[in-house]
Amino acid sequence: MSETPQIPRPVPRPEDDITAEFWQHCNRDELRFQRCTDCGTWRHLPRVMCAQCASTEWEWALSSGRGRLFSWTVTHRSPHPAFRGEVPFVVGIIEMEEGVRMLCRIREIAPEDLALDLPLEVGFERANDETSLPFFRPAQEADSSD
Ligand SMILES: [Zn+2]
Repeated sequence: MSETPQIPRPVPRPEDDITAEFWQHCNRDELRFQRCTDCGTWRHLPRVMCAQCASTEWEWALSSGRGRLFSWTVTHRSPHPAFRGEVPFVVGIIEMEEGVRMLCRIREIAPEDLALDLPLEVGFERANDETSLPFFRPAQEADSSD
């Protein structure tokens, strides 16, 4: 029996300082989004200017880590050799309590059990020594918006 060599997972390679900062927070197991310090609007993906008021001032505010499933897809054919042993897997869009939407891996639930508006919560997994990646899983306790 031959052993398959471990192929490293691809990890994010930020192309600018703002995006890099998002991932640096993830590496500390913190999900943070930009929040405009002039009008309070949350935003994601990271960018320089607030789309609401055009301010270039922001903070990295801690997310509740909770949201609801907005949409998803089930991948049956691995796009990369590192994921070959993981198919089928789910990638979804999560509408966060803060109002932003985030594209992310969804774990710990069978694809056939997914449903629109399913309550989800963030978790983090180590991709390598330097990189921690967020994922979402079914929320452990019901939120108060039901
Ligand atoms: Zn603003």
